[in-house]
Amino acid sequence: MKYINKNFTIEKVKAQSLAKQFRTPIYCYSYKRLKDNINNFKKSFKSFSPLVCFAVKANANVNLIKEIRKFGLGADVVSIGELMKVLKAGINPKKIVFSGVGKTFDEISFAINKKILLINAESKSEIIQIDKIAKSKKRIVNIGIRLNPNTDAKTLSQISTGKKENKFGVDKKTFFELVKYSNKSKNIRLQCLSVHIGSQIINHLPYEKMLKIVDKIIMKANHKFEFIDLGGGMGISYKNNSKKFNYKKYNIAIKKFLINHKSKIIFEPGRSIVGNIGVLISKVIYIKENQKKNFIILDAAMNDLMRPALYGAKHQTLPVLKTTQISKKTYEFVGPICESTDKFITLKKFQKLKENDLIVICDVGAYGMSLSSNYNARPKAIEILINGSNINIIKKRQKLTDLI
Ligand SMILES: *Cc1c(COP(=O)(O)O)cnc(C)c1O
Repeated sequence: MKYINKNFTIEKVKAQSLAKQFRTPIYCYSYKRLKDNINNFKKSFKSFSPLVCFAVKANANVNLIKEIRKFGLGADVVSIGELMKVLKAGINPKKIVFSGVGKTFDEISFAINKKILLINAESKSEIIQIDKIAKSKKRIVNIGIRLNPNTDAKTLSQISTGKKENKFGVDKKTFFELVKYSNKSKNIRLQCLSVHIGSQIINHLPYEKMLKIVDKIIMKANHKFEFIDLGGGMGISYKNNSKKFNYKKYNIAIKKFLINHKSKIIFEPGRSIVGNIGVLISKVIYIKENQKKNFIILDAAMNDLMRPALYGAKHQTLPVLKTTQISKKTYEFVGPICESTDKFITLKKFQKLKENDLIVICDVGAYGMSLSSNYNARPKAIEILINGSNINIIKKRQKLTDLI
């Protein structure tokens, strides 16, 4: 994605022509970036060839998951809906792991029927439930136990998951208890220890700390784990020139860890696979200058992209057609929704904009469309995947009639 003759271009397609053809807002993804991200991810850890399970909650578009499947990835799902989607996308059940603190009877039952690789349990009650359902089906079910390693991922508090005050996983003491419970059960086979300490983690040190804790716990648990599932969470840079996650150092730490543990590593990356592949193309409806503030009112809103309203996330915002005229004013970029948190970013010295001009909001491939809603009875945006000069509609714009 770059400017070609002052036109924001995704591979070989101008954002402006997409807006003309499909109206706005548009979620637009680059296939090349997807491919590069997956290949780079695999390359970073190639010495121990991990199973890479894409965390579907980052982007649950079935057609996109189909493309991801073609690179050999599996999936990490957190609901029966996501599980159905990845099966529909053709992902091999033997490459699917199921995470989440509140899996219902129906969800566990469905997952067992589909013979997925692992159900990663997050509490004693859940293991008892899995055990019961497995017994009633006369099956032996492979499970993991998610450990809460009590490590600070040094990320936004809203997306931190590995501290003792978080609802995820079980503490050390419970972990040992559950290993014993599982080993006694005839219907569950404990194969995996899983951890996931948070999201948008830029510093590799929390991972190193987590590995040390996991190492100690495995030694003490005295159980052979087929798999160690290290979760996802590797961060991406949302700003130009911001710090990047150090894959080399993480790889070195895992290799060191594996000297004492002959287990297969599983990863569950979401953001690092799809975060930077997408932009949201939007049009300026009105420009409004109040006494205290100036607003660019866009046709995209928090229902399309919730990260700014939900976590205070900031996404780089760019004009679709570059000019040299810079505005002296400060503008707040907002959506039309009746909430004061419906704002994307405040920018000084942005290029001068007029009504009907187009902008792009960058790095929205992860937790963009998947977090979108129909709030204010707004239909969901169209999703397009660009491959060279090919334009593939991977999900149609929702029709108002479907909504009403
Ligand atoms: C959200 C989540 C992931 C993916 O996190 P990213 O930061 O997008 O890589 C992986 N595993 C679990 C259990 C999750 O909840």
